[in-house]
Amino acid sequence: MKRGISILIDNGHGVETPGKRSPDSRLLEYSYARAVARDVADQLRERGYDASLLVLEPRDVSIMERVRRVNQYCYLLGGNNVLLVSVHCNAAGSDGKWHDAKGWQACVSHNASLRSMALAENLADAAVCYGLKLRKPTPTQKWWSQNIGICRDTNCPAVLTENLFMDNRDDVDFLLSKKGLSVIVNVHVMGIMNYLHSQNVQSRIISP
Ligand SMILES: [Zn+2]
Repeated sequence: MKRGISILIDNGHGVETPGKRSPDSRLLEYSYARAVARDVADQLRERGYDASLLVLEPRDVSIMERVRRVNQYCYLLGGNNVLLVSVHCNAAGSDGKWHDAKGWQACVSHNASLRSMALAENLADAAVCYGLKLRKPTPTQKWWSQNIGICRDTNCPAVLTENLFMDNRDDVDFLLSKKGLSVIVNVHVMGIMNYLHSQNVQSRIISP
């Protein structure tokens, strides 16, 4: 069997993570990210890719533990044979009120590899392709460089996606719609597949 890439989808926060919800509590970041992560992993597996969820527990799993899990894969397979995407929703404030900021963004860590940047760019292109408003730090750069532990401390290409704002009314209405969820899922599936094709690598085909 040809060795390829093991795709890890991190669903971020757990049920006990404080805050992290829309002002009207209709959208809870941990459960929304889990729904997205589950569907992304399912769809990638249906297409023959080796995709897994990093966190199976409903509880909050610390970043340190999530990093440990990712790096275990990297140790066993080699960092360039692993890929991590961490799924989140953005927030403009922490005051429990609605705000105006809106849109989708991809983030990498300050120490990001070229592969991480390429993965972020493919995800950003997929977001535009699906009609989302892409937030960019400059007119030409499609991803943000930030101090993100799950990306900084893992030994593989790693991107964190901020899937619209949970404290923007329009974004929350869209996220909670059937179409919105499928768009967010499809952005990840398309972005990851296009990245793999651009790197000319195959994901490991898993047998049923
Ligand atoms: Zn988050």
